[in-house]
Amino acid sequence: MASCAYCNTRILFGGKRDGERRYCNEKCQHQGRLSEAASQLSPADVKAYIFRVHKGNCPRCDGPGPVDVHTSYRVYSVVMMTSWSSRPLVACARCGTKQKLGDTVFSLFLGWWGLPWGILMTPVQLTRNLIAFGKTPDPETPSPALEQVLRSHLAAQLIANQQQAALSQSAQPGSR
Ligand SMILES: [Zn+2]
Ligand SMILES: [Zn+2]
Repeated sequence: MASCAYCNTRILFGGKRDGERRYCNEKCQHQGRLSEAASQLSPADVKAYIFRVHKGNCPRCDGPGPVDVHTSYRVYSVVMMTSWSSRPLVACARCGTKQKLGDTVFSLFLGWWGLPWGILMTPVQLTRNLIAFGKTPDPETPSPALEQVLRSHLAAQLIANQQQAALSQSAQPGSR
């Protein structure tokens, strides 16, 4: 079975195709492109950044870390349309559990009301959350998922800086 080239979630139905790679959705596809840009980053910088975030305070509640990726799953249906997503959160374990709990309740109430996807995907997303509750990342070492997310943060900054530099260059008087 195909799995997402970015978040590694198994793709049961649909997904986005990008050449050879497959992604859950546009968001994962975007992140996947970022991680390609990330290959230009210096490994030492990336490592230092990962270490800082992992040992730092939670970006969501500002409480003590360790900070890692906690993925929760949700689904909702409106009339006949059903939408589901994997939601990786960079936060402390308490915030991660909170989001999984929130998405479980959310899906339990709002998931079912579409045919056929609501009926099919709601148990899938609920089960994924159940599994996710039992899976806490090792507090001692940053997970590969955290590494990947932070790498793409840096890549996004890199791309933004490059765009900014290109913009300010073209905006300079006398440059044309
Ligand atoms: Zn994905
Ligand atoms: Zn937190």
